[in-house]
Amino acid sequence: MEIPVNVGDDGHSHGRRTLAKRAGLLALAAVWVVSGFFLWRTSVPRLDIPHLDPRDYFDAAELSRADDYRRVSRALLLGSLVVQLVVMGLLVWKARPLADALGGIGRGRVRTGILVSIAVALALWLTTLPLGAVSLWWRRRYGLSTQAAAGWLRDQAVAVGVECLLVAAAAAVTLGLAAWLSRSWWLAAAPLFVLAGVVYFVAQPLVVQPLFNTFHPLADQRLTAEIKELGAKEGVTVDKVLVADASRRTTTANAYVSGLGPTKRVVFYDTMLDGRFTPPELESVAAHELGHVARSHIWKGLGWFALLAIPGVLLVWWFTERRGGLPDPGLVPLAIAVALVYSLLVMPFGNLVSRRYEAEADWMALTATNDPESFIRLEQRLTTTSLGDPDPPDWSNLIFGTHPTPMRRIGMAVAFRTLASPAPGGS
Ligand SMILES: [Zn+2]
Repeated sequence: MEIPVNVGDDGHSHGRRTLAKRAGLLALAAVWVVSGFFLWRTSVPRLDIPHLDPRDYFDAAELSRADDYRRVSRALLLGSLVVQLVVMGLLVWKARPLADALGGIGRGRVRTGILVSIAVALALWLTTLPLGAVSLWWRRRYGLSTQAAAGWLRDQAVAVGVECLLVAAAAAVTLGLAAWLSRSWWLAAAPLFVLAGVVYFVAQPLVVQPLFNTFHPLADQRLTAEIKELGAKEGVTVDKVLVADASRRTTTANAYVSGLGPTKRVVFYDTMLDGRFTPPELESVAAHELGHVARSHIWKGLGWFALLAIPGVLLVWWFTERRGGLPDPGLVPLAIAVALVYSLLVMPFGNLVSRRYEAEADWMALTATNDPESFIRLEQRLTTTSLGDPDPPDWSNLIFGTHPTPMRRIGMAVAFRTLASPAPGGS
């Protein structure tokens, strides 16, 4: 006869559990490193990118005006970040009374927790609103924004509405799972958040972007044909090339790719098509965006999202577990604070990856157009029209730079030119 449970067995099964847990974590870490390795690789060859002098490419008066603009805009950005962190700290500190006050309306831990999450999102939004208004005034002063206060406020209201919905959904899933599965909620939450990320990426161009802009197909037939041809060169088919009415807010020019699968599209700001950019410059822009599609950067971005979100969920779990665990609504501000601080801490790494992919899209554009001169002029014009810094300090680029610096992008075009046409007299 077998005795199912005794102390010795307990000890063994506990030991086995710890071992299994460690093995599981090790396997997860191995999957992380291998996935990261494959996502990290790009097709950009090893290049000797020259260090160029911005003064050779940009007008001194232009540079100093852009400097003046950015001195204040950077301070405003930093200020808004500090305000958010301080407010977040206060909310964590006063979490218990906040949860108690909302408990009367929520009636139940999960519902109260969702209300607390919405209160946190609203508090962060309201306290940074004044700095946002100053920033609008500053952008209007420098001619970057064309938006009146009423339109800006409407945008703010829509944005915070979307944010509240997303935060509430995340809270509902997390707290619901915690109420159901207790301590092991993170095991179900991590894959669910990754899945939600995929859904958001697919749906965002159809659901979120139309809240802010209207889109119509690119009318310029010549440019459309040129884009199709570039697509063929880069091995991608482009079904949708759209124009967004960005000029109702801004004078800055931009283009982007968004969506996944059936919602995939290349979008030009209409400010890019107002005559300031020449056709070859627009082709360089399109070739860059198609490069993102050709190299599956949105899918890879989603891969990184999964790799970074899972440790984030684990951190939220660890911090809240130490204080009694979710679904306690009084721990919701702490959970959001951990997620916020974590996202700030991984931002430099996310931007490092982004810079690699942007450099790859640039390389694809140079190869497809074989027109480094237009690429350089495009880079100059994009920088001057957005009052950007052609050569920001390293620390700033390392933390905030989503793209290679303009001087580095120009440097890549110069390196491409050198590769494409070896110096005369060479053997
Ligand atoms: Zn790009």
